[in-house]
Amino acid sequence: MDFDEIFEMFGIEPEGEDEAPEPPSFRATIRGSRLMVVAWMPHLLTSGPTGRLVRDRAEDGVTVADLWVTDDEPSEVIVEYLAVADRGRADRLLSRWAEAVGHGRLWLPDRLVTLDPDRPLGSAKVECPTCGAGWQDSGADFWENVRNCGRFPALCPICNADLPQWQWRPGRRSRRAPQRKA
Ligand SMILES: [Zn+2]
Repeated sequence: MDFDEIFEMFGIEPEGEDEAPEPPSFRATIRGSRLMVVAWMPHLLTSGPTGRLVRDRAEDGVTVADLWVTDDEPSEVIVEYLAVADRGRADRLLSRWAEAVGHGRLWLPDRLVTLDPDRPLGSAKVECPTCGAGWQDSGADFWENVRNCGRFPALCPICNADLPQWQWRPGRRSRRAPQRKA
């Protein structure tokens, strides 16, 4: 008797066959230096029959990716590119963003980027593309909120339009050597 027969006898299916894949957490869109990270919605076009509409955005210099955020502590981000205009730039932008908002690792399609969630937080700023209001923050409450949400605030408190992800200016690392007691 081989394993196939045993599986058949006990009605065991190979693992994971019937599980629906987990939907992504976010849809990321990169245009120029602007990174939008919005909550993923089931109506979004992906790689199905309409995938070409998404892929073709690359011709206009736009990169589109789906992001899965894990429950690990610190969390990790899995990236699946749907349209790629400039892969190197997209990898860099997503790595910097993920580090800013506190994720520990970024899984790109072909490599793993280890991030430093303990880097000094510094400040972050953004300008609302709709009403033009400028926002800047460096406070502990702001960063706590960012780290809890896994992204920067994504709605403008004045016009309620979507905000791009904020530009991060990390704090300076302490250069002091560890103090030794004599
Ligand atoms: Zn606004």
